[in-house]
Amino acid sequence: MRRIAAKYLYTLTSAEPLENGFVEVDEDGEVVRVGVSEDPSLEEEWYDGALVPGFVNAHCHVELSYLKGRFSKGTGMAGFIDQINALRDTSSRPRKIAALKEQMDLMWKAGVTAMADISNCDDSFEVKASHPMYTRTFLEVFGTEPEDCQAIIEDVRNLRARAQSFGLDAAPTPHSCYTMSPELITRSSIEGLNSGFLSFHSEESPEEEEMLMHGSGPLWENRKAAGMSTPPVTGEISLKYFLARLIAGLESPVEGNVLLVHEVCLDEYGASLARRILAHPFFAVCPRSNLFIHNALPPIDLMRRSGIPICVGTDSLSSNDSLDMVSELRCLQENFSDVPLGEMLIWACRNGAEFLGKSGRFGTIEPLKRPGIVLIGGLSPEGRLTDASASRRLV
Ligand SMILES: [Zn+2]
Repeated sequence: MRRIAAKYLYTLTSAEPLENGFVEVDEDGEVVRVGVSEDPSLEEEWYDGALVPGFVNAHCHVELSYLKGRFSKGTGMAGFIDQINALRDTSSRPRKIAALKEQMDLMWKAGVTAMADISNCDDSFEVKASHPMYTRTFLEVFGTEPEDCQAIIEDVRNLRARAQSFGLDAAPTPHSCYTMSPELITRSSIEGLNSGFLSFHSEESPEEEEMLMHGSGPLWENRKAAGMSTPPVTGEISLKYFLARLIAGLESPVEGNVLLVHEVCLDEYGASLARRILAHPFFAVCPRSNLFIHNALPPIDLMRRSGIPICVGTDSLSSNDSLDMVSELRCLQENFSDVPLGEMLIWACRNGAEFLGKSGRFGTIEPLKRPGIVLIGGLSPEGRLTDASASRRLV
């Protein structure tokens, strides 16, 4: 039995920490008891910091880890896509696998217990299968030409079989409104929701909104210049278009956990539609990626008011300098200073676990769970994150 105590213990059953809290865990990392220390000076293992459950990185593309440091910032979405296309296959498979393993190990050490990860190929499967971190793999599809839809669905079914042969939880997921034919969005969503989960890049940039609403803008021009078919111009927000593609093939409200990733351009109307049409919607915010690509941030206050649970992701090293959850939270704190640390931790731990259907095991520090125990050090005297704040896994 190990007993760990600290200035703050965030069990995340609420947003308030226990001051001078302790947690006892057994050899398997299972939480046995939580409480408040009567005399912190008598604790054998005591930290000047915050104990939190293991993080859930709700949005990553770990297979893109080999692209670290190679992208220019502030290019906007169209420029970003050009860079991805130019750099995607510039590294050998062994180097790609070594890079993603290094990043998974770093994330694990920094306290990431579980991850919702996007995969376009099988590069990450073997590493994930033997890694202590729990992953759910979203096998992402895209394709703008309607006639390619059937072949893409067959390919992704093969990729799913391969993922499952490694014992991974994996299912197809659609990429975004601007990279897919209408029928492929519907077909791949049905495939994905058979597993109970979907992760979708939604309203990531003003360029996406302009493309869907008005049939213009840099992303529209980019797609046209590449000779690709573009989605129908609806005059409506792209989130509405996506939801319409879902209920073109599924009953409303649509069952399953649906993660709307980014939502930089979310408005009140979109949030209310998501609440009405999706039985279990979630948001994933990736603030440092949004700043990297187009110097924008999601409307956090609107998201908080919407009642839809917020999760936190790092996105990939093609649009971020590190896959570090504390850096994401610090970025949120810098830009939305009225959000308490405990609430942000609920986003980064508990809500992600709930999205993954793993709240019985992860996300809070409670008896019978095995969430991992993580220390965040370098807090201010008021218990806020500082430039010195960093996390490390204790259990
Ligand atoms: Zn992404």
